[in-house]
Amino acid sequence: MTRRASRLPQILDPIASLIDERLAGARCAGKSPLFDAELDNETAEERSERLSWARGQCTRCPVQGPCRTAAGEQEHPLGMWGGKVHGLPGHPGRTAG
Ligand code: SF4
Repeated sequence: MTRRASRLPQILDPIASLIDERLAGARCAGKSPLFDAELDNETAEERSERLSWARGQCTRCPVQGPCRTAAGEQEHPLGMWGGKVHGLPGHPGRTAG
């Protein structure tokens, strides 16, 4: 480290700390609402169709395995992870309250 660099403030990038590098190239990037477990004002039929589409994206996703691993590391994963939906009644990930 140069003397000049050592005087610069060391500020962590809060965004960088939220990015999981294992999921680079994810097919859901930029489409996160479509992978949510539930959306407001959505009928059960619309939800089923949307999640079926999302599951298809996961099937062709190059990081499906790491995504499932990341989901397993979450205390309460919500939404579609690796082709499996979490957070719907009767499915894993539903939080109380
Ligand atoms: S497998 Fe995971 S990272 Fe890939 S599209 Fe599905 S939810 Fe996104």
